[in-house]
Amino acid sequence: MKNRFTTDADNNGRKLPLVEEFYSLQGEGFHTGKAAYFIRIGGCDVGCSWCDSRFSWNPAFHPLTDTDTIVSNAVFSGTDSVVVTGGEPLMWNLDYLCSVLKQKNIHIFLETSGAYPLSGEWDWICLSPKKNMPPQPEICMKANELKVIVQDLSDFEWAEEYRRQVNKDCLLFLQPEWSSYNRIIDTIVDYIKKNSAWRISLQAHKFMHIP
Ligand code: SF4
Repeated sequence: MKNRFTTDADNNGRKLPLVEEFYSLQGEGFHTGKAAYFIRIGGCDVGCSWCDSRFSWNPAFHPLTDTDTIVSNAVFSGTDSVVVTGGEPLMWNLDYLCSVLKQKNIHIFLETSGAYPLSGEWDWICLSPKKNMPPQPEICMKANELKVIVQDLSDFEWAEEYRRQVNKDCLLFLQPEWSSYNRIIDTIVDYIKKNSAWRISLQAHKFMHIP
């Protein structure tokens, strides 16, 4: 699939529309609690109704930043791990970003909806599929972690559909959609008690009021 935002200006991933970068703790999924430097890349046309990162959707609002500068900032933070998130980061060619981070011996973690073709070499891929734009089969096969956001009962069916499509070693997480937390949490707990292949993922950073 052609990345509709790609222009010559991004120079094959040597510049990326940077929304924000910060050193914090991973709040979601398998690596919850781990210190990591977050690189949020602008651009997303998936359009989730409950998206908490709408400010990232339009890449034109975020400065094309030298990828080398982004990596230097990560190294300067002292981190040993980087989480690349968005937006939908795979709208951009991430080969160069990953190769430079690897040269610095930094572990690289991807958060993606999987809606666009995979680029970059990753230590960990967290796939969070979205109904508006289902994920690419290649990413389902390579995902280390499947994280399904649960807003209503239909999302359990959606989760099981993608459980069948990921590889057998992929870890399975259900995460309550933040604004629906009080309404849905008990249902998710009951579901996991009956379907113990799944674990819960909470947005721990939001409970801790950290970025
Ligand atoms: Fe928001 Fe992620 Fe959905 Fe894009 S894929 S709309 S960034 S939640």
